[in-house]
Amino acid sequence: MSCQKQMISIEPPKYGDRTEVFYVSNYRCPVCNGIGAFMSDLHAGKPDICDHCDGTGKVKAKVTIEWTPDRD
Ligand SMILES: [Zn+2]
Repeated sequence: MSCQKQMISIEPPKYGDRTEVFYVSNYRCPVCNGIGAFMSDLHAGKPDICDHCDGTGKVKAKVTIEWTPDRD
């Protein structure tokens, strides 16, 4: 069985905002297994669209990194 994993390497920026936002995309939806709907409902003639991926079969992660002073 295979799975998709990605690693993120982070580094504080020298200039600009302290908050970074980016997306990690193209993951198969784990709820509907990339189908976008559920098989039992497809057989009934009325597809039930997956709420997790909104029927796309894929999901993406919105990653927000906020850099703050380290006073610990
Ligand atoms: Zn889904």
